[in-house]
Amino acid sequence: MAETTKIKTIGVLTSGGDAPGMNAAIRAVVRHGLSKGMKVYGIYRGYTGLMEEDIKEMRAGDVSDTIEKGGTILKTARCKEMRTPEGIARAVEVCHKYGIEGLVVIGGDGSYRGAEKLANEGINVIGVPGTIDLDIACTEYTIGFDTAVNTAMEAIDKVRDTSSSHERCSIIEVMGRAAGYIALWCGIANGAEDIILPEKYDYDEQKLIDNIIDNKRRGKTHHIIINAEGVGHSASMARRIEAATGIETRATILGYMQRGGSPTCKDRVYASTMGCIAVDLLAQGKTKRVVSYSNGAFRDYDINEGLAMTKNIDEYQIEIARSLSHNYYKSEALADGREA
Ligand code: ATP
Repeated sequence: MAETTKIKTIGVLTSGGDAPGMNAAIRAVVRHGLSKGMKVYGIYRGYTGLMEEDIKEMRAGDVSDTIEKGGTILKTARCKEMRTPEGIARAVEVCHKYGIEGLVVIGGDGSYRGAEKLANEGINVIGVPGTIDLDIACTEYTIGFDTAVNTAMEAIDKVRDTSSSHERCSIIEVMGRAAGYIALWCGIANGAEDIILPEKYDYDEQKLIDNIIDNKRRGKTHHIIINAEGVGHSASMARRIEAATGIETRATILGYMQRGGSPTCKDRVYASTMGCIAVDLLAQGKTKRVVSYSNGAFRDYDINEGLAMTKNIDEYQIEIARSLSHNYYKSEALADGREA
């Protein structure tokens, strides 16, 4: 006998950029919802599909063989109309037509803003953080980040091999938009000589050039610079560095390969957990909440409270990235007048 829930019919959609692990979250919403006796609708192409009634009732079998797949089986979209009162009215009208009382929105901050507007019109909404960029302030985990950094890390290892063989300098641009989390994590995991973070970069290219020249002089066979997307222009930076150092310098932009691929175990488990929590919150009649992982536990926050939060890139991680790169020892040694 299914338990009594405050809500009988729910919908789930993915919105904004896709991220590996979104399917695990969708699967969790569908199956956990069904297990509670709810009717569950899958809404295709985010808010666009909601307005266009691109909606399908989901059975348990509809999410079979999806947990291991990258992307999102529901597709995703960016929907301009959602930013207008007419768009919101249309979305609410469709929810009423299908009897959708509760909606799980898997996406980033922008998607939460749309969700908040639907909540103001009486639709119960729960946000689940889905973005590889980790740039949602109220959570230390977002669906897809773990897979994206592992994909980037493996790719950078490969670039490093060829960089060493050819004794080149490599600038490797990773995703993350205005946030440097992927760059910082890869910088530490790949042992990069320099990491350029949007939050910290002072545009002092001469410092980078001096580091490369010093490293080469001390016999280093490669120099890896991880450049975050938010700073960008890796190809022109490579040309300038090559001209200034005389060392062959190549730019590699990893691009969308970081957004795809089979999710890691962590992304599957955390996304599944967050999808189930979203359904539990709806079953309890909660609304305008976002699911989060912080300080070692899954939690939920009011959407507006979550959107108002800010977070800074971890200063300690920046410090250790610097101390673990050879440059630190070199600068200490040079100050002491010895060779590192
Ligand atoms: P990602 O981090 O992958 O970019 P996101 O959810 O932040 O994800 P956005 O493009 O900012 O991506 O937002 C996704 C969709 O959410 C938008 O296309 C739009 O439909 C809706 N949205 C964004 N901002 C608002 C807003 N202020 N009001 C209503 N809807 C919004």
